[in-house]
Amino acid sequence: MINRSLKQLATMLANKQISSVEITSEYLKRIAQHNPEINAFITLNPEKTLAQAAAADQRIAQGNAEPLTGIPLAQKDIFCAKGWRTTCGSKMLENFIAPYDAGVIERFDAAGAVNLGKTNMDEFAMGSSNETSYFGKVQNPWDRARVPGGSSGGAAAAVAARLCAAATGTDTGGSIRQPASLCGFSGLKPTYGLVSRYGMIAFASSLDQAGPMAKSCEDMALMLNVMAGFDSRDSTSLEHEKEDYTRKLKDNSSDKPLAGLKVGLPKEYFAEGLDGAVAKVVNDAIDQYRKLGAEIVDISLPNTMLSIPVYYVLAPAEASSNLSRYDGVRYGHRASQYDDLMDMYCKSRAEGFGAEVKRRILIGTYVLSAGYYDAYYLKAQQIRRLIAQDFTEAFKQCDIIMGPAAPSTAFNAGEKVDDPVSMYLQDIYTIAVNLAGLPGMSIPAGFASSDDGKPLPVGLQIIGNYFDEARMLSVGHAYQQVTDWHTRMPEGV
Ligand code: GLN
Repeated sequence: MINRSLKQLATMLANKQISSVEITSEYLKRIAQHNPEINAFITLNPEKTLAQAAAADQRIAQGNAEPLTGIPLAQKDIFCAKGWRTTCGSKMLENFIAPYDAGVIERFDAAGAVNLGKTNMDEFAMGSSNETSYFGKVQNPWDRARVPGGSSGGAAAAVAARLCAAATGTDTGGSIRQPASLCGFSGLKPTYGLVSRYGMIAFASSLDQAGPMAKSCEDMALMLNVMAGFDSRDSTSLEHEKEDYTRKLKDNSSDKPLAGLKVGLPKEYFAEGLDGAVAKVVNDAIDQYRKLGAEIVDISLPNTMLSIPVYYVLAPAEASSNLSRYDGVRYGHRASQYDDLMDMYCKSRAEGFGAEVKRRILIGTYVLSAGYYDAYYLKAQQIRRLIAQDFTEAFKQCDIIMGPAAPSTAFNAGEKVDDPVSMYLQDIYTIAVNLAGLPGMSIPAGFASSDDGKPLPVGLQIIGNYFDEARMLSVGHAYQQVTDWHTRMPEGV
């Protein structure tokens, strides 16, 4: 059961071969067995979860099921879910029970999906290894000593270890795609504005976007069908016409199903800094695309190297503003002892935030300060425009861009925690996509061996033009029909 696609599960539910309560119980059992070690979930609430599953079974019996009715999903702990503890991986929100649902949660509820629990994540989604979480690190199911990637590390481990049918994540600079690459599953960051940010705890609002994390492109298409849509409560939500993201998923009818597709390879994505074993896996995947009929063209995204410095001005600037709401007054952590109001603010924030979050707040307030605004913030905004223009030019030469999703395979826990810049470089191939607001995804492309011979997953990144998710998913789907990387499971789970 745990390797079934969402479509297969839906068919089994419709045919009454299995109930949602049965599927959900099986996942809860697996979570109870593996979560104490893997630490993928911060909060579980089996009673609530099973009540949702029972309601889904009733709905199926009444004959008004939708494709995801009764399917158990793991929700990143960045989404407010009514009555659920919602921590965003922070001590600041350790005891925060959300009084309302995020837009994404509402949509899954309306579709009849079941919420299995809230997944672990880097604190306020700041990180690439899940090691900044107040709730402890997460194990990569492929090698327990290694990180799952971040910030959606709990969701990543949960999908890889089959502790859920699929999961949600959010991606501000790579937090869906990098963990998808490090844990060997499919993850998609949609076009900015396609999925509602309402009730999704804000990190860097002009970059944050929620998306699906699943076993295959077909599963992601079904998830995106539920997630995408205009929300008037999110001022940057886009009024894009409703699409069926499964509509371009075709069975490979010939041996050249992708004839006519132009795939651009940015030379900057294959330059210094890319691990040799990862490059080999990615190049093999591109060869497979050649065999499927795609035409490969060389392109350039000349400002790629500026994307990390630009991001680490803009994201902290927005974060410092977004996180100013955590002052210990209305909700969140409040220091137990303080002298006066100012002291209460200071102590509550000093105690409630971890080191990485503080680092970002400091950088953010610095670059926004009157004396430095023009030199840093304004300049970064200008370069952001140039980075977006690189993609506009590139898409004149190709339909889709491909490259690695992350520069290396999963690294050991502890390896980069004391070196923020090397941690930041994990997102070298993903961040520009967020800065440009484009959709990007990572799909499993094979394995590279670790030093001790363990297979570690490698992801292929596929970047599309604005709102081209349906085509990206079909391009990924064509590959997933001739390869079986996406069906591989780690041992020991
Ligand atoms: N790793 C990046 C950061 O630390 C991106 C995180 C994200 O996408 N949420 O900011």
